[in-house]
Amino acid sequence: MLDHFGREIDYLRISITDRCNLRCIYCMPEDGVPDIQHTDILSYEEIVRIVRQAAALGIRHLRVTGGEPMARRGCLDLVRMLHDIPGIETISMTTNGLLLDGRIREACEAGLNGVNLSLDALDPDLYRSITRGGDVEKALRVLDEAQKFGMSVKINVVPVRGVNEQELPKLAELAKNSPVSIRFIELMPLGCGASLQPIPTEEIRRKMEEAFGSMEEDRKRRGYGPAYYLRPEGFQGSIGFISPLSHEFCGRCNRVRLTADGLLKLCLNHTSGVDLRALIRNGADDLLLRETLRTAIERKPERHGFNEPVEDRESRHMNEIGG
Ligand code: SAM
Ligand code: SF4
Repeated sequence: MLDHFGREIDYLRISITDRCNLRCIYCMPEDGVPDIQHTDILSYEEIVRIVRQAAALGIRHLRVTGGEPMARRGCLDLVRMLHDIPGIETISMTTNGLLLDGRIREACEAGLNGVNLSLDALDPDLYRSITRGGDVEKALRVLDEAQKFGMSVKINVVPVRGVNEQELPKLAELAKNSPVSIRFIELMPLGCGASLQPIPTEEIRRKMEEAFGSMEEDRKRRGYGPAYYLRPEGFQGSIGFISPLSHEFCGRCNRVRLTADGLLKLCLNHTSGVDLRALIRNGADDLLLRETLRTAIERKPERHGFNEPVEDRESRHMNEIGG
């Protein structure tokens, strides 16, 4: 469906938990954040009910995220349930991958089409220190398996000044001999990210050109999202850039979000939204649910406004919002 600004909204990101098996330095404080009570989190049945109505309004693509989605029991059962909803064309997952180790076949059979794997370093010690405890070998095994099973695979890297600068060309090289996309995501000043220093996209692009020579735009990989992709000569895959701060992409935004506690969130950087959990638990029928979704999506904010004063600015961590 179209929002008030004429944007086609066909993509829903569903956060199913705020918990995580890792504590990445730009995302979560070392001792975690207070967990949402189990009863405050939408059940899988409630999520499916919402997605049915969203699909009736034109949502076609789903992404399951968190926190770490695989940290919630039965995550792949939810994928299976979402896969069965008429109108849903693709389901992907944003994950650190560690809990998918040995479960990629099952994930494919459940209907998962793609994974976006977060991987900020290849060096085992650096990976362990960025994630505060993760094992990079597991993440790499999952990367391998997902490709073998023909899933669409993208790797998300958050470059942080003074932390993983030296790893960036090595990470980009993963796209040389296989058709994966490596996407550099500009650090956003949300939660723990606010105290770290981003590396501007232009600087990373220059580094890539120094390492791999000139790059051509890869239009085939445009996808549904805000990334743009470049391909160095001789590469099977591409290098993508997602730069919410230096290149605002709100004019092409196609998405809304559902938080684990049931808020339909209309923009990453705005707290306003609709409490669908309250609506459902107060007995709303499907028609009311669908009309509530429709009017909320219509009034999606025009811009995230990271670089300007915003009245209802988001202050929660990414694991709570659903990154
Ligand atoms: N646990 C999963 C993972 O790490 O992929 C899914 C949730 S995580 C919040 C989703 C994405 O948000 C990850 O790619 C992560 O790197 C990114 N992220 C977290 N905090 C961020 C921040 N402050 N700025 C930019 N990206 C961030
Ligand atoms: Fe967990 Fe993902 Fe946040 Fe890292 S980025 S702490 S893996 S939710």
